[in-house]
Amino acid sequence: MAATTPSTPTVQRSPHLGLAIVTAHVSGIQVPIACPTWFCSEKHETNRFRDVVDIDHTGRPVNLYAPCFDGSADDLFAYGQLGQDIYSSDPKMREPHVRITEGGGQAGFYTLDQADTFSGRLTTFGSEVRGLTHFARSMTAEPVAGHFPWCQPGACVSGDPDEQGDYVDHVGFESSVSAPQHVQTAEGTLLSARLCSDASDGGGATVSISGSDSNGTVLTGDELDPVIDDLAAFLDQLRAMRLHLKAAEA
Ligand SMILES: [Zn+2]
Ligand SMILES: [Zn+2]
Repeated sequence: MAATTPSTPTVQRSPHLGLAIVTAHVSGIQVPIACPTWFCSEKHETNRFRDVVDIDHTGRPVNLYAPCFDGSADDLFAYGQLGQDIYSSDPKMREPHVRITEGGGQAGFYTLDQADTFSGRLTTFGSEVRGLTHFARSMTAEPVAGHFPWCQPGACVSGDPDEQGDYVDHVGFESSVSAPQHVQTAEGTLLSARLCSDASDGGGATVSISGSDSNGTVLTGDELDPVIDDLAAFLDQLRAMRLHLKAAEA
């Protein structure tokens, strides 16, 4: 049977969808205005406006705080919210869109598709920043001569110069996905990765990735990049699959 590619439906929503008539305080009088009440959290009735075109329709913000040590306790880095400018001359502004405002007050406007793209980049950014912190933490405090800075103290294996030859297999830190309790695997893991350097692979730094049978595949830096991209997409799909399971349970 021929495989079919599922298509993503394009939802054409009307900018008038979800608009309700509410009261606003404009130039000293109460006037009826259209408001996207399905997300708008503005107090039009009590806030004072000079003109209906000045009325903003924005939803509750989601906040991103930055606890950096050279700022005050927990600086507001940016916040995002839904917005809709019903009387704008720009059709994109008349549609529900996402506004992201920097801590300094500068706002950027995103269509829903652009906001999806941007938030995907934020996820990658967060993952890469976390990679930097893990990188810094995994450096041993005192580098030992003949070893990599990431070698785990006492974990590296030296060969006997008289028998196997004069070599050192270097062992760095490991990260793994544990197998569920009832699942038997060789090392109790479904997937694991270790920073290492094996004399038989030329002595350079590599990453060894092992599946549940604990058979390892050694990857160099260039080989690791596409694997990282695939794993990031794999994790997104796992989350989507989990939502399907939840929906089926409901
Ligand atoms: Zn409103
Ligand atoms: Zn070592």
